[in-house]
Amino acid sequence: MYQPNKERYEKMNYRRCGNSGLMLPEISLGLWHNFGGVDVFENARSMVRFAFDQGVTHFDLANNYGPPPGSAEENFGRILAKDFHGYLRDELIISTKAGYRMWPGPYGEWGSKKYLISSLDQSLKRMKLDYVDIFYSHRPDPNTPLEETMGALVQALDSGKALYVGLSNYDAEQTRLALDILEEMGVSCLIHQPKYSMFVRDPEEGLLDVLRENGVGCIPFSPLAQGLLTDRYLHGIPADSRAAKSHGFLHPEEVSEHRISQVRALKSIADAREQSISQLAIAWLLRTSQITTVLIGASSVDQLSNNLKSMQNTLFSPEELMAIDNILT
Ligand code: NDP
Repeated sequence: MYQPNKERYEKMNYRRCGNSGLMLPEISLGLWHNFGGVDVFENARSMVRFAFDQGVTHFDLANNYGPPPGSAEENFGRILAKDFHGYLRDELIISTKAGYRMWPGPYGEWGSKKYLISSLDQSLKRMKLDYVDIFYSHRPDPNTPLEETMGALVQALDSGKALYVGLSNYDAEQTRLALDILEEMGVSCLIHQPKYSMFVRDPEEGLLDVLRENGVGCIPFSPLAQGLLTDRYLHGIPADSRAAKSHGFLHPEEVSEHRISQVRALKSIADAREQSISQLAIAWLLRTSQITTVLIGASSVDQLSNNLKSMQNTLFSPEELMAIDNILT
């Protein structure tokens, strides 16, 4: 029988999410890969338990995580039922999203109210929950009025099926428009989930300004560029890595010589700071208070354990930041 570590909240730093009252752990765990029906359930279960024992209170899902789609939510629901029972629900922040293809036909993806509301109901059934803490529009829909998509998020709140709403993959302008519409409807957006890492710096082009001006939190996803920003690929593509898996979203051609030479150069900076490459990459994101929490993935408890240590040193000298920028440009 799982007994959560009693010292878990002393092990973690928590940051306020934008202007809200919600505190999130500096590191959150995402269940996109390694928690699906094709994966080893007991490994997924150990990672969730280990994360919670270290003070990771926030678990990020989406309707389509798996494969097969939906199976990560089903497995997470099984883990909650086995280990967390009802009474720990109030200590957890559970997020889900809808936006990408989930079922066939015209109502199975994008941003219509029909899709978002049905998808949230399905997610709750799979996880066996009454509500999620954060419900996201997973991507902007060019063919649905933004008022309808935001209206669906507000309806999720009004129905009690979500406590907060978020946006993911909306660029700076789309975010500004969505925030204005939500405000007219009397709702604040809690958080934005963009792809952001040392290798993908698009949010610096305006999105972060919009979030700061509007008091919206930021949770970067794929902070390790799906594993590139680690020591995983320094000596080729391991057979059990994401880049080697047919269902993985890291394509072998992305493990390029150029990327690996950048990772080697970053390693010398990480070594000098007595950090691993992944710790350096996570700490680099955590260096500003605007980043509420960094949303990592992992395929083992060892990786998680390594990554959580990044919180021990998130200060960077101007010289280090300049050296990093020189490597990345
Ligand atoms: P990361 O960039 O953190 O990549 C995680 C992968 O990196 C792991 O699966 C593992 O790869 C490798 N890795 C992690 N730690 C280590 C380590 N210490 N040493 C060596 N390798 C390591 O994040 P993800 O791409 O997994 O994304 C994180 C989360 O973000 C997702 O689970 C999801 O919740 C969210 N997300 C949201 C999206 C959106 O559109 N909103 C899109 C994508 C993700 P390996 O499996 O090869 O061991």
